[in-house]
Amino acid sequence: MIRITEYAGRDVAVYGLGRTGLSAALALKAGGARVHAWDDNEETRAKAEAAGIALSDINKRDWQTFAALVLSPGIPYKFPQPHRLVRMAEMTGVPVIGDMELFARAVQALPERGRPKVVGITGTNGKSTTTTLIGHILKEAGRDVRVGGNIGTGVLDLAALHSNAIYVLELSSYQLDLVKSLHCNVAVMLNLSPDHLDRHGGMDGYQAAKMRIFQNQTPQDLAVIGFDDIYTQSMAIGLSASGPQHITQISSTYTLGKGVSAVEGRLYDNLNGKAEFIGKLEDCPALQGRHNFQNAAAAYATCRALGLDPATIMAGLKSFPGLAHRMENIGAIDGVRFVNDSKATNAQAAEQALRAFKNIYWIAGGVAKAEGIMPLAPLFPHVSKAYLFGQAEEAFSATLQGKVPVQACGTLDRAVDQAFRDAKAAGDASPVVLFSPACASFDQFKDYEHRGDVFRSLVKAMMSAPLKESA
Ligand code: ADP
Repeated sequence: MIRITEYAGRDVAVYGLGRTGLSAALALKAGGARVHAWDDNEETRAKAEAAGIALSDINKRDWQTFAALVLSPGIPYKFPQPHRLVRMAEMTGVPVIGDMELFARAVQALPERGRPKVVGITGTNGKSTTTTLIGHILKEAGRDVRVGGNIGTGVLDLAALHSNAIYVLELSSYQLDLVKSLHCNVAVMLNLSPDHLDRHGGMDGYQAAKMRIFQNQTPQDLAVIGFDDIYTQSMAIGLSASGPQHITQISSTYTLGKGVSAVEGRLYDNLNGKAEFIGKLEDCPALQGRHNFQNAAAAYATCRALGLDPATIMAGLKSFPGLAHRMENIGAIDGVRFVNDSKATNAQAAEQALRAFKNIYWIAGGVAKAEGIMPLAPLFPHVSKAYLFGQAEEAFSATLQGKVPVQACGTLDRAVDQAFRDAKAAGDASPVVLFSPACASFDQFKDYEHRGDVFRSLVKAMMSAPLKESA
């Protein structure tokens, strides 16, 4: 745990006691603060109490006594409208911060030579994959690396600060909205497309939150920025005009005159204006598809900046085991491959998997995002048949009508069963039952992880028991 001593002997309100809120409360308590922790959800409060946090209903406290409000990133800060407790903090002059800000200040409080390195990763898609990938490569290279933030372990639950350590942190736009002091030695911006716009008051607000990853960078630092969409391109131009840091651009679509490219999975290092072929990403089983080529290029640029040589990085890319729920290969039955891409909660993310395979028996559905699956139309020729479930069934059916054979299945288990029967019977070359829902999960599941776990268990059950004769 990283103890936060900045508020020793003072009162701090912590609102939202999920994974990161709870770790903030514990880190503040360990550092000597008087913590006033609260969550509106009774079950969450009980969990916090069991973890040793005394509860205090901050709705009823004298706010003049609070030195800060530590807000969970899930709670609306500015948009669609500030949460009532954010308003309360503003009215009483209490600063609103997040757990990442506490971490950042703890790092800044150390003498410069005693500070660990910080690598921050953000973007609309690919954050978790790239964060885990960078962590894996550095660990394999023998570095003292700690991986967390928006993925896995909350930042303040990571091992204590140490000058030789490298913190590799996934940063969401919500977390970035709540930081001022974060200084990333390497800041990675993978890609940007419209997402979470209600929480940021539109695309400008979303982009501005993401740009905060570059704040406080110095001429010794590096910004790794995607070249594959117009938003990140304009960010790179803006930074090169006004920022002090070095910039490395990365692309899986274009061969860059300077930067790192991975077009068609061929990884080229052109950091110094002289292209060097590093390796073929087809040799990296967990990094298939153009989106993963982008993640690999970003990881390569980051690890080079941290002093690793190309061969060591390539070895790490090859041995990367991949993440659950992101194009996770579950196995094959009778020549039909099953892929769990439950993390694809929007069309943008599902697009990557649809592009990576052919002869797809596509299972999709849940709660659709505003754009639905219309943006995926160019990839419909990759789909042999679609199996729909959940709230999006009708809308997705209408989009697919006349383009792809569709079956409305209602639930995931029926969709899996039917998709397998059809894939097996069709006799296509290398058929894939792809679960890439392009939807949020909350109509039928707790979250995308629960949804992916259910898919995986359905497939595992089929692996151990033969299909029944009728559907
Ligand atoms: P995040 O943490 O940003 O949500 P993940 O690494 O968990 O991203 O991947 C989420 C989904 O996005 C997966 O379904 C994956 O197929 C897709 N994806 C992964 N990397 C990228 C990328 N660089 N660009 C676009 N989509 C991606």
